[in-house]
Amino acid sequence: MKLYELTIHQAGELLRNKSISSVELTRSVLERIAATDDKVCAYLRTTPERALHDAEQADQRRAAGEDGPLLGIPLAIKDVLSTQGVETTCGSRILQGYVPPFDATVIQKLRAAGCVMLGKTNTDEFTMGSSTENSAYGVTHNPWDLTRVPGGSSGGSAAAVAADECLGALGTDTGGSVRQPAAFCGIAGLKPTYGRVSRYGLVAYASSLDQVGTLGKDVTDCAILLQAIAGHDPKDATSANLPVPDYRAALRPDVAGMRLGVPREYLAEGIDPRVESAVRAALDVWAGMGAEIVDISMPHTEYALPVYYLISPAEASANLARYDGIRYGYSYPQAKDIWDVYRKSREHGFGPEVKRRIMLGTYALSAGYYDAYYLKAQKVRTLIKQDFDRAYEQCNALIVPTTPMPAFRIGEKVDDPLQMYLTDIFTLSLNLAGGCGISIPCGLADGLPVGLQVFGNLYDEETILRVAYAYEQATDWHLRKPGI
Ligand code: GLN
Repeated sequence: MKLYELTIHQAGELLRNKSISSVELTRSVLERIAATDDKVCAYLRTTPERALHDAEQADQRRAAGEDGPLLGIPLAIKDVLSTQGVETTCGSRILQGYVPPFDATVIQKLRAAGCVMLGKTNTDEFTMGSSTENSAYGVTHNPWDLTRVPGGSSGGSAAAVAADECLGALGTDTGGSVRQPAAFCGIAGLKPTYGRVSRYGLVAYASSLDQVGTLGKDVTDCAILLQAIAGHDPKDATSANLPVPDYRAALRPDVAGMRLGVPREYLAEGIDPRVESAVRAALDVWAGMGAEIVDISMPHTEYALPVYYLISPAEASANLARYDGIRYGYSYPQAKDIWDVYRKSREHGFGPEVKRRIMLGTYALSAGYYDAYYLKAQKVRTLIKQDFDRAYEQCNALIVPTTPMPAFRIGEKVDDPLQMYLTDIFTLSLNLAGGCGISIPCGLADGLPVGLQVFGNLYDEETILRVAYAYEQATDWHLRKPGI
């Protein structure tokens, strides 16, 4: 086995008993990136000098007696998380050349834990998309089939993990952007409860939905990463002031007596039969371990998509007002006056999907339409949340597919926004309700990974980790690798 193929927990063991150094591990991963990323294009920029410097420091810290599950582990970071001294573009031309003067809280926490930063990964512009095709800097390719998308918007992070171009990665999830690419790339992706992880330094798309998430080669690695980034942050008023449990202690392959709900609205018409049968087979695995599978209904599920596509653009239209061509990144060079700077910088700086959402959101918030669209969407959001509340009165966790179909071809859906939006139909409702969820691989459809999600109640990451871990222990889908 090559060092770059290791999981975080495997590499952690080898670092702890000093069989390998972080410098050796980091070199191996950097060589892997050099050999594969011209095909995958997961990274927007790598920071090899910085990575080797971080690795040396981690080795010194260990020599001085320090230990920790992430000390010396090379990770990739989605390019919407602010990194001090390293360009952060959010996949947008309007942030070209923007170098943040500070680290996001999650980055500070990873640095404190001794991680090695490999570079910044590709994303749909401002995370608006499901395929990375909305990036201003080119598309990322799915390591399982280079003619297909890796999903999005954290497609760069997911592809990097799947192609062994990092040991783990951070992404962000506003409507599915961690879980959907995890499913398309055959890896584990966890969206924590809204408020579990600080959003300070995460460039905002839709502030009531955005959350930083983790991408790993297995459930254990997601638990380790979550442990490092979770917790209250005085710099983010929406982060919860709650104790953070020991997530690795939650990894017990024991689901006997647990009630797992299957909302029938998720296994309905329109789902690829190969996805449906993979999810049903997984239910049998849990049932075989003594879990009770409970048929439930979440009747407002069908409204999640329209509600999401009113609320998230509304928030985006406000959040993206700050890009004026003056404060950050790109500025139109031949502007005649200040209005021309604003207008032309935004015209040339934003891509078509971002413009579409700014217009949709501005419309939904405007006088005369606010009550009909935005306010109504907020009310329906409450109904969706109540579906979840009722479900958790009867069940410990919910099991649903991650996507209706496996990874689609590059170019297949770019001209049809609605078809693109529909790929997130099973992930969006979780963000609207605020709970946590993890996507794990549960099958292959003609050589392409299929994923399922375990949803959990607010701040109940322990349960979803336990349920996912139990499945992983009983199966070997997480061990399958793309042949790249
Ligand atoms: N694909 C969804 C969208 O385009 C979700 C994106 C995300 O989670 N950031 O909005």
